[in-house]
Amino acid sequence: MQTALSIRPLATTSPSLGSEMKICALRAGLASCREADEWVLHDPRLWLGTALHALLEKAKRKGLADIEGAWDGEIVGFVQRIGSHQFDRRFSDPTRWPAYYLTRQRALSSAAKLNSATKPSSGGVQAPPWSGTERRLTARGGRLVGRPDRFDRTTVTDIKSNLPDRATPLGIELFGRHRRQILIYAAIIAESLGFWPNKGVIAGASGETIEFGLAPAECDAEADAAIADLDAWNSALTSAARAADLASPSEASCGSCRFQLVCPAFWEWLARRTPNGAALEAPIAVSGQVSSVQLGNDGDLQSVTLAGAVSTVSGMTTASVVTRRSIHGALPASSASSGCRIVAASMRRDGRLVADWATLLVPLDRIPAIGISLAGP
Ligand code: SF4
Repeated sequence: MQTALSIRPLATTSPSLGSEMKICALRAGLASCREADEWVLHDPRLWLGTALHALLEKAKRKGLADIEGAWDGEIVGFVQRIGSHQFDRRFSDPTRWPAYYLTRQRALSSAAKLNSATKPSSGGVQAPPWSGTERRLTARGGRLVGRPDRFDRTTVTDIKSNLPDRATPLGIELFGRHRRQILIYAAIIAESLGFWPNKGVIAGASGETIEFGLAPAECDAEADAAIADLDAWNSALTSAARAADLASPSEASCGSCRFQLVCPAFWEWLARRTPNGAALEAPIAVSGQVSSVQLGNDGDLQSVTLAGAVSTVSGMTTASVVTRRSIHGALPASSASSGCRIVAASMRRDGRLVADWATLLVPLDRIPAIGISLAGP
């Protein structure tokens, strides 16, 4: 077992943390735990979106003499940062990120159009003080902290890996969460810089956006609610005997949670609802005893079978998945009869599990426990 992840009292909250608190207190605790980030696989589509919008911002503001070089510079920055992350390092070749070439092409052509309207400048043009990119701002006596992806006098922009599909219940829910975050960013900007942006923008890696208006009264109400949620969260932490007491496992809260791998409450909840519970929507999570590990001829493919499965798939008692050691890590043959968790897998029509770029497979004895430490904040 790894060193335990510690959930500690919080002195501050943020738009994204406020959103997590509304879903599940344990999820918010893990989101605020730096060490827990090492157990989350990040989405390269978000990096692509951030690179795309950063490139367009530079082209618009000061023009770019070398658009391709500027794109490469944005991407290299991400690659350098992910090299030491145990899961993210599978993305060390950016050309294999999902939709890399498509996003790159969109970024270059959109930047070229903006460039033609802006004279390229070799000197460093400072952003005006009323705009910023990932600039740290505080409000409500320092208890509310935000780093909006981008803002200026009129607009607050938050970049997401995917735009929510508002034709589905989940998409409507996600849109509500993203919108609420932007409302709080606007309140932080107003309090710290003295002006109200009047437009919120959710920007996807595709370059597409969703826009909506911002009303100061609603933004302030959401900011105040985030502070109330922070107080309630700290109070819940103080009275919790164990980290799992903070959890609110459900289809809605756990289905998209990035902490499934380490969350004890999630697996306990799955075990209680298996085999009669309805299947959760993909991606699939499964835990069980390793009954076999077979290495393919190329020395990279590895077929792992789990028995006694607990899964998001209703009625699944055994699970078999083919993974790549170079991507998903090696599971030695000696792992047989030990426990293992798999998250973010998908399923083929024949019922076999498929591991893709987002899938994690980790032996149980490597997964850290989660504890509470009331020392702090
Ligand atoms: S998996 Fe579910 S219970 Fe666990 S932290 Fe995430 S939302 Fe909460």
